[in-house]
Amino acid sequence: MFELMVETTFSAAHRLKTGNKKCERLHGHNWKVQLFLSGNKLNKDGVILDFKEIKEKLEKVVMPLDHTYLNEIPFFKKISPTSENIAYYLYQKLKVLFAKNKVTKISRLTVWEGDKTSASYFSL
Ligand SMILES: [Zn+2]
Repeated sequence: MFELMVETTFSAAHRLKTGNKKCERLHGHNWKVQLFLSGNKLNKDGVILDFKEIKEKLEKVVMPLDHTYLNEIPFFKKISPTSENIAYYLYQKLKVLFAKNKVTKISRLTVWEGDKTSASYFSL
């Protein structure tokens, strides 16, 4: 099995209801997003999928979040914009974009809130 990873970043503000006073205040992060794709069938060029195609799809779902106040995005009006929920949101959007692709599967979507903390979503 092969696994590919493409990464991008975005900056946004959010406000969380976690009981942690610091997180409840309006603040921002420079998030790093990593998309992992897996597959075991290489095409005639010896790749699973062109990195450029993956990067384009990733940017298409991540860029609408850049420089926004996440709590105002419809999906996050009822669901808290935690790193976990951002990973879930991006995973679901990308799943639709990769639905026609039969040779790869999204194995994981990881969102880094800081240098040392991340949350991932994957389905078994
Ligand atoms: Zn935060």
